[in-house]
Amino acid sequence: MDMAHFQDGSDYCYSEYFEAPGTVNVGWLGNGMSFPRYPPSEELLSLIWQYTQFSVARARGVHYRDLCTSARCVEERDGLALLLGAAEMRVFGSEGVIYAAPNMLYHYVRVHHYQPPEAFVRALQEQPAPPDPFYFERLSALGLEWSEALVYTPSMIRPRLRPD
Ligand SMILES: [Zn+2]
Repeated sequence: MDMAHFQDGSDYCYSEYFEAPGTVNVGWLGNGMSFPRYPPSEELLSLIWQYTQFSVARARGVHYRDLCTSARCVEERDGLALLLGAAEMRVFGSEGVIYAAPNMLYHYVRVHHYQPPEAFVRALQEQPAPPDPFYFERLSALGLEWSEALVYTPSMIRPRLRPD
């Protein structure tokens, strides 16, 4: 399944189950889409990684493979390897704005040098982030469930079925 692509700052509408008033899109990049690029700082990567470790709005399967050529997206940091592409993240901004991003965001920023909007980066820097309990309370208040992100293990590579 192809993932939808949305302009930064547009109203979030990818899944009606995960909509909340004031939710806007960030980082829904697609193949052939132009987007602002800038080499990321370690601070930015570290901030995004905090959110990447928790999945919000999980989908049934890995549904993202547009921008990248590899079959799966695994990102590793601080000894933790996560399988990305089947969930989203939420970042709370000021004045009631909620940012919805695919959890591929870390990959997009690290590898493709996607430059997220300034207001989003400010929200990362200034607002409570996971694992702060206040962050999870805000998710709960919106009726959003979360779980720990999928840890990647080599056994996730399914063996091919052998013919008899
Ligand atoms: Zn990629």
